[in-house]
Amino acid sequence: MKFFSTRNKGLSASFKEVLLNGLAPDGGLYMPAKIPKMSMDFFKSQQSFEELAVNIIYPYVKEEFSLSKLTDICEDAFNFPIKIKNLNESDLILELFHGPTLAFKDFAARFLAQTMFFLQADNKKKLTILVATSGDTGAAVANSFYDIDNIDVIVLYPSNKVSGIQEKQITTLGKNITALEVAGTFDDCQRLVKKAFVDKEIISSLNLSSANSINFVRLLPQATYYAWAWKKSKINDSIIFSIPSGNFGNLTGGLLANQMGLPVEMFIASLNINDAFVKFLKSGKLSEKKAIKTISNAMDVSIPSNLERIKNIFDSDLREINKKISTWSFSDSLTKKMIKNIYEEYNYLVDPHTAVGVLGLNEYRLNFKNLKKGVVLSTAHAAKFSNVVEPIIKQKIELSEVVKSLLDKDKLSIKMNNEFASFKEFLLSV
Ligand SMILES: *Cc1c(COP(=O)(O)O)cnc(C)c1O
Repeated sequence: MKFFSTRNKGLSASFKEVLLNGLAPDGGLYMPAKIPKMSMDFFKSQQSFEELAVNIIYPYVKEEFSLSKLTDICEDAFNFPIKIKNLNESDLILELFHGPTLAFKDFAARFLAQTMFFLQADNKKKLTILVATSGDTGAAVANSFYDIDNIDVIVLYPSNKVSGIQEKQITTLGKNITALEVAGTFDDCQRLVKKAFVDKEIISSLNLSSANSINFVRLLPQATYYAWAWKKSKINDSIIFSIPSGNFGNLTGGLLANQMGLPVEMFIASLNINDAFVKFLKSGKLSEKKAIKTISNAMDVSIPSNLERIKNIFDSDLREINKKISTWSFSDSLTKKMIKNIYEEYNYLVDPHTAVGVLGLNEYRLNFKNLKKGVVLSTAHAAKFSNVVEPIIKQKIELSEVVKSLLDKDKLSIKMNNEFASFKEFLLSV
């Protein structure tokens, strides 16, 4: 498979280049030159999630990995369950949070770590992965790459804007994982990382790579669980997905699955009050606004980094985007109410991000009177946001042993201001 850049269709990159470079040399995002089509029967006939993942991903990686190597990678990367909870006849919750850091980002980060490890094995120069995080990506990437030979990870996270568990997940590993605590927002972290990738001095001294959702390879495992949810829902026609969204990597994974042939009625981009995408779908324009802190902090993003891919998929045709993606934004108070409602009505606990997803699905049904099956992607375990959730349900959430032991570990971070000069100085000194 060859890949092009959203800013240059003529550019041609291999899977290995896409994986290790993250961003295309012209600053654009990589996209596959051709998305292989699959039939409904194909999706239905897959017996396990691993089998489905291998068969979906293989066409993109076959120049680098044999089918059996890819099978090993997928078995290692996806070594935790995916569960589906039926709230009622029509509404399902796809639980993507059973990985080691309790968020869906484990799928992408673990797949990335495995593939990078194998492609990096014969490289003499150490790889340095930069990752900006609003909380969960940093945790998942740190955990997935921990103690991997020949790869260093530098995580930039916004000080005081991630949850306690998230911060511990990022800052307590040590070894090849460095945590930079940035005085600023997620957008600041992302800006610093993006600038580093185009800084001549930095890229000549370090062998940089990215693990953010700008890396196309993250989208592949994220496409697979849409297909798995559709298969497990046992329907013959199209389905609705509601995705709690920030940088829109998860949603773009869904669009990819749809392009492969998965029948999807509508993607709902469910947002907190960081609602740039709502305005974009109306006007085609993005307004620059600072990200606002919310209780669904992994979605506190002002400019979704995958928007460039979404525009590319739909040839920047706003009407076509509106046919496939609906979007709404919800306040923290509605989110809290929804957590309470779901708990009382179904005796089921969701985290704030997932609650935003349920709000989005409900809003869609209200507006479009559509009763088709709908799947809410549950992106994190409620325990990760116990500070928000416990006061709402007036109960303690049982923490797993892994999380408990994490809370006793010491935080190790390097504090930094949000100026590029400081970040550059740090990078050139490591
Ligand atoms: C990262 C994250 C999101 C947003 O996903 P994007 O791919 O950035 O849109 C939603 N919920 C949780 C829990 C997350 O960690």
